[in-house]
Amino acid sequence: VRRIGVLTSGGDAPGMNAAIRAVVRKAIYHGLEVIGIRRGYAGLIQGEFREMHVGSVADIIHRGGTILLTARSERFKTEEGRKEALQKIQEAGLDGLVVIGGDGSFRGAAHLARLGVPTIGVPATIDNDIPCTDYTIGFDTAVNTAVDAINKARDTATSHERIIIVEVMGRQSGFIALNAGLAGGAESILIPEIDYDLDMVVEKIERGRKRGKLHSIIVVAEGVGSAIDISKEIEKKGGFETRVIILGHIQRGGTPTAFDRMLASYTGARAVELLLEGKSGQMVGFENNRVVNYPLEEVLQRTKTVDREAYELAGVLSI
Ligand code: ATP
Repeated sequence: VRRIGVLTSGGDAPGMNAAIRAVVRKAIYHGLEVIGIRRGYAGLIQGEFREMHVGSVADIIHRGGTILLTARSERFKTEEGRKEALQKIQEAGLDGLVVIGGDGSFRGAAHLARLGVPTIGVPATIDNDIPCTDYTIGFDTAVNTAVDAINKARDTATSHERIIIVEVMGRQSGFIALNAGLAGGAESILIPEIDYDLDMVVEKIERGRKRGKLHSIIVVAEGVGSAIDISKEIEKKGGFETRVIILGHIQRGGTPTAFDRMLASYTGARAVELLLEGKSGQMVGFENNRVVNYPLEEVLQRTKTVDREAYELAGVLSI
């Protein structure tokens, strides 16, 4: 292994820069050349390559987003598109590739590995919906952003004796909603993985009112449905005054937490080691406080679900 490439793909996540930094510096430490590929697989097909040096990743560990830019590429999903990418990889003399992204990006990475390109995945998505790792880069920051918003919403909810509904990201997964709801002390948490009953949500608010509690925070994952519709239902059923906060893309930005920077540093550096060991088609993960690796094929077959015990605990603690 002499020369490797690194790209970020799919939705951006805070900590991607720290992962790029780890890949670049670890590779240079071992005497490798590193090529940064801009705009994910779209840039790979277009040959948007640039040489990375120690200084190329200076002053980025604390920045959200990705200096390599990210993109979604429909062309890469086709065989011709992947052939074009393979040609660019060969022309540039890359002996390995690190793909920083989510599950869609890993589907692409698995294809490249099958085409004979040594490829390693580093999980980075705020959704935390990647199996074979307890956490993905960006999740902790997104949860902290959501908790910060809940804290602020709670102040005004209390002052005005209102119900505030906070919609967080998570189209298919409730990881952000569950952790932010638990850490933010939400009365109810609605997530796509677990059925809910709005009557029970309303009943819980009413029970709270009876014992003098005049405000409530309800956290809703976007995949459950529109927070605005849910708030209208709650108003209709219970006659309370509600307000809706949709956090949206601010959850994808901001300075990464120390945890996300450490996770990115560990997993990014390990990806380079795996390439040096001659491995391919693997994803680096972090399980039980250890850096691990699993075949991408296995990662793509498995599913990760939210912790039901944590969900139930959130309910118990907010009675
Ligand atoms: P996030 O879940 O955070 O948005 P992601 O990596 O899952 O991140 P996607 O948009 O699903 O984001 O995937 C990123 C890119 O990976 C796609 O635009 C496409 O180029 C490539 N990709 C996705 N699925 C496949 C596939 N089945 N085969 C080849 N390439 C794929």
